[in-house]
Amino acid sequence: MTDIAPQPMFQRLALIGAGLIGSSLAHIARREKLAGHIAVTSRSPATLKRVAELGFADSVHAEIGDAVAGADLVILCVPVGACGAVAEAMAPHLAPGAIVTDVGSVKQAVIRDVQPHIPAGVHFVPGHPIAGTEHSGPDSGFAELFNGRGLILTPIPGGDEAAVARLRAFWEAAGSTVTEMDAAHHDKVLAITSHLPHLIAYTIVGTAVDLEESTKNEVIKFSASGFRDFTRIAASDPVMWRDIFLNNREAVLEMLQRFSEDLTHLQRAIRWGEGDKLEDLFTRTRAIRRGVIAAKQA
Ligand code: NAP
Repeated sequence: MTDIAPQPMFQRLALIGAGLIGSSLAHIARREKLAGHIAVTSRSPATLKRVAELGFADSVHAEIGDAVAGADLVILCVPVGACGAVAEAMAPHLAPGAIVTDVGSVKQAVIRDVQPHIPAGVHFVPGHPIAGTEHSGPDSGFAELFNGRGLILTPIPGGDEAAVARLRAFWEAAGSTVTEMDAAHHDKVLAITSHLPHLIAYTIVGTAVDLEESTKNEVIKFSASGFRDFTRIAASDPVMWRDIFLNNREAVLEMLQRFSEDLTHLQRAIRWGEGDKLEDLFTRTRAIRRGVIAAKQA
């Protein structure tokens, strides 16, 4: 009797972009045998060369059309602002029945930019892994990135349900916990949980940089006292984050407005020595941290 190897979930996975997320997807897809063939393309010759050296792809392509040809799963792993142009370039080469998804941190803008280019018979299912680090590029990826992390799908109303189910199974096999939600709701939730915290980190680190040289040296020296965590977040990829703020403008501005009001209340409490107000807030926020730890998201 001969053993018959189980069929991979997808025959050919095409990854467009090979940074942190794209290379992590290649690693996990290979480890878990989620695809029979992993084709990778990226914009720059330097990244293509590095992908070939790292060996996590079965084929490396300079042309996007060559990467997606014959693929039954295509994942856009490029900055949010690049998704529209990438979708336009790959559209004529997509195989009938293929599933196209993305990993962009904003969903309404990606749907706006990508969906018009998707040919009939190809299924676009937008997605966003709630997993990441401050590192970027093909060397930064690792198979465990998605393990135990959330993955949000924002299916397009009236879209193909079987495609959503297959994509859900792919992400679950990669270790993620999948949630479905409406794209507008996603953008609001992420504005407060991810985008605003990054904006605050960029601001604090930027303010420190603007201080005169002597203070700056001490900022680095004593960074363990809280500032360090902000510097880690503020080291995130500048292009990726530029695109997130430009493409989730309304939700971020709404959350920023609320944040500014709350900050003004704190400022007032400090000015008037209202310790009970400060203690009350800090007690409530401490409980949130305990919730995050209990949910294993720390
Ligand atoms: P990354 O490490 O900086 O890699 C970006 C990739 O996109 C590279 O392959 C780069 O190609 C390519 N690229 C950049 N600009 C492009 C353009 N204008 N046209 C075509 N390709 C372009 O980024 P990442 O962290 O993997 O992020 C990719 C996506 O995942 C983003 O949409 C981001 O919002 C989302 N995301 C990121 C995180 C995170 O923590 N990093 C978490 C969740 C979701 P070259 O290297 O060849 O130039």
